[in-house]
Amino acid sequence: MTVLPFDDDEYGDQCAAPDGRPAALTLRCYLPDDEDDRQAVAAMYADYLREGFRETGEAPPGAAVDLRLDTILSCWEGDVVGFASVHTAVWEVDTLYVAPAHRRRGVARALLTAVDRWARGQDRGRGVKARVPVSPAADALLAELGIPKAEYCESDLDTWRAIGDSQLDAIRSDCEHGEDWPADFCTPCYDGWAQQGAEAQVQRHQEDVESLRRMRAEKALRTD
Ligand SMILES: [Zn+2]
Repeated sequence: MTVLPFDDDEYGDQCAAPDGRPAALTLRCYLPDDEDDRQAVAAMYADYLREGFRETGEAPPGAAVDLRLDTILSCWEGDVVGFASVHTAVWEVDTLYVAPAHRRRGVARALLTAVDRWARGQDRGRGVKARVPVSPAADALLAELGIPKAEYCESDLDTWRAIGDSQLDAIRSDCEHGEDWPADFCTPCYDGWAQQGAEAQVQRHQEDVESLRRMRAEKALRTD
């Protein structure tokens, strides 16, 4: 078994790659300071938002990056082709995404297996749960890997739906294309919102990481 080194700053942890993963596939931590990583994750997250909306008619829940999350990238021959964001305080997968051209290659399986082992390696005796929006394929994979879905109380679900609905309302009110939302939604407006939102999320996260570092540095100076 290969042990993959994760960054040893505040994202530091180690993660074991699943046995039998394709040789071309590697997993590593998302690097908020790396512009290529930021662009790759913003593009994939925008696609995640677009695909989720096409499938369900709702803006899908889940974030790619924020300070609560550790985000693991899967790279195929060096190119970033998927990610899993994990809420490590509760060990739940927040979002899982694999680029369409790289599906059916075991990328999602590798990500989930690695994250599950990472969770189990924390002396907690159990693995990760998944709060990813489920599709039949994802359901089957979760069941096969023995990864349970996270359970939520109704008020959490209501809150998420309200946030999603207000996002769609905002897009609809800005749309000047006169289409009948959301039954016949305006694709360019939703897609533009998804792209902007994804880029803003990645940017905001990098700024949050920087201010966290500054706060820690100042605290370290004060305590010296
Ligand atoms: Zn429009």
